[in-house]
Amino acid sequence: MKRFEEVIRFHGHSCPGLALGYRVSLAALKAMDMEKISEDEELVAIVENDSCAVDAIQLVTGCTFGKGNLIFRDYGKQVYTFLKRPLGNGVRISIDVIPPEETKREKELWKRYGRGDRSEEVVQAVHDRKAKKTKVILESPEKALLKITKVKVPVPQEARIYQSLPCGMCGEKMAEPKARVRDGKIVCIPCFETESERVK
Ligand SMILES: [Zn+2]
Ligand SMILES: [Zn+2]
Repeated sequence: MKRFEEVIRFHGHSCPGLALGYRVSLAALKAMDMEKISEDEELVAIVENDSCAVDAIQLVTGCTFGKGNLIFRDYGKQVYTFLKRPLGNGVRISIDVIPPEETKREKELWKRYGRGDRSEEVVQAVHDRKAKKTKVILESPEKALLKITKVKVPVPQEARIYQSLPCGMCGEKMAEPKARVRDGKIVCIPCFETESERVK
């Protein structure tokens, strides 16, 4: 099992989001009974945000973007679903953090930070506040922090290998399903969008 220090090393800093992802990962591995995962099964994570938390998920659970067993759904929610391929049985984990009480001074300094104040006093206060929140997340009992429900949902398909095509404008290759058509030419998305902007 990975320690939080290892996750910090991977991510580059300690923060509340990373702590959340760490707690979610540990809970998921426990709930999914990973010792019993067989060779023809695979763990898949569906994440509903692209925050710091996802770095912890990747390192601790081994579900990564490149392997195709980390699926990003851009919902902006602190919700994580873990499934076993091929059956699709798993858990959905949502998070509700009750942040530690904020003092008047902390509130004031946060406001100044929001207005772009980067004085030493303000930066230090923000840093302390984040450290406090991280500690709360790491130390909260699982029941207070996470809502875990069993689910069975269809597993998104495994990453497929597509044929590649050259773009008719820049000449670079792209996967076939990403191709667009612009003025009768098959083009990549960046060229397609650049062109549309110019036309406007
Ligand atoms: Zn972070
Ligand atoms: Zn192109």
